[in-house]
Amino acid sequence: MQDVQSYLDELRGKLEVKFSNQTEFLQAVDEFLSTVAPFLEKNPEYVEKNLLEMLIIPERIIEFRVPWMADNGAWCVNTGYRVQYNSALGPFKGGIRFHPTVNQSIIKFLGFEQIFKNSLTQLPIGGGKGGSDFDPKGKSEGEVMRFCQSFMQELQKYIGPSLDVPAGDIGVGGREIGYLFGEYKRLNGYQTGVLTGKPVSFWGSLARTEATGYGLVYFVNHLLMDQGDSLADKRVLVSGSGNVAIYAIQKAQALGAKVYGCSDSSGYIIDEDGIDLAVVKEIKEVKRGRISDYVKLRPNAKYFEKENIWDVNLSFDIALPCATQNEISEASAQNLVKQGVKIVGEGANMPTSMAAVEVLKQNNIFYCPGKAANAGGVSVSALEMAQNSQRLPWTFEEVDQKLEAIMLSIYETCRDTAAEYAEPMDLMAGANIAGFQRVATAMVSQGLV
Ligand code: GLU
Repeated sequence: MQDVQSYLDELRGKLEVKFSNQTEFLQAVDEFLSTVAPFLEKNPEYVEKNLLEMLIIPERIIEFRVPWMADNGAWCVNTGYRVQYNSALGPFKGGIRFHPTVNQSIIKFLGFEQIFKNSLTQLPIGGGKGGSDFDPKGKSEGEVMRFCQSFMQELQKYIGPSLDVPAGDIGVGGREIGYLFGEYKRLNGYQTGVLTGKPVSFWGSLARTEATGYGLVYFVNHLLMDQGDSLADKRVLVSGSGNVAIYAIQKAQALGAKVYGCSDSSGYIIDEDGIDLAVVKEIKEVKRGRISDYVKLRPNAKYFEKENIWDVNLSFDIALPCATQNEISEASAQNLVKQGVKIVGEGANMPTSMAAVEVLKQNNIFYCPGKAANAGGVSVSALEMAQNSQRLPWTFEEVDQKLEAIMLSIYETCRDTAAEYAEPMDLMAGANIAGFQRVATAMVSQGLV
């Protein structure tokens, strides 16, 4: 039988040729492959069955045209995607991203990560992801609605409550999910469980909006408690100021941390008195404005235009990247070391480049990979599916308690799997191996399909 290392090398070589122009996708796959050798050594059956290649090729990729009309009558068009990656553990599940950077590589990297994330939740969901290069920024309410309707005209052919259940991601929140749901309903009738992240008024789950940010902080908090420490008085910076960032800030503050900064794609703010979350929420959730407006309302705060928050000159303890992929470069990671950071917890998907992860590791910084640390969002999506199936909603407290229990279990699984197969507290290896283990077992049991 082929030895594990040569199997992995051969596979990597093949993928590099085949997907040479899909850099984010290759990065996500590479990160995964770099951690699984010790597990494969103990489970040679998966090498024999070529299970990794089987897993890396999506079950299906759908790419489609999304035509829509601008307010001024102009004919516009974007590309829509849905990657139905792996259904070994349940219906495809994962968000939809509307952002001008979206392409097949981005959706595939997100879909690939989603397989392991969803597996770690121990809930019955497979992995998928979708999106479009449509830019909601600066679009009118009517344009967003017409775009969502056109997107769903095509997507509805491929989804369903037991087949594929999309939700939100960057650029897709309650408003967009509402329009998508409305269009699906018009075409197929009322199917409560076809999307998650729905507004609470029509059977969205309480605590879904908060779930990714809260879950991230629960994860980091359990890591700290494990070290005999706590969040009290920890100095925290958060990137982003969207849904994930806002609720990470809220929970971190509630647990006693001091959050000094957050950002958007134009720059970042530092408020030495601690972020006033009500101001951020007003700017971002109500006015859909820019974070630079923060300093108009809190004159003691400072705004750093066109700068990356991770290059900040301020000492702090915990970095919570909640913006987007590869926001922490190798140089930024070196800055985090310099500023005394002890924990990096990823609220975004793959915000830390591979070289940056290496820097964090070498400096003994605890690194909490997104596929584990930000799994709270999709976990509550799965709880939303459960509530929709039984046609009964749960209280906020019920959902929040379940969320915290899930995050604790994911943390412990990653920690224990790392100890068994890799270095203690190599949570990246722990997440990859534990996530893979469940999917691989299911795939083999289901036969060659
Ligand atoms: N987009 C989120 C993620 O990256 C949530 C997906 C979902 O709720 O299905 O996990």
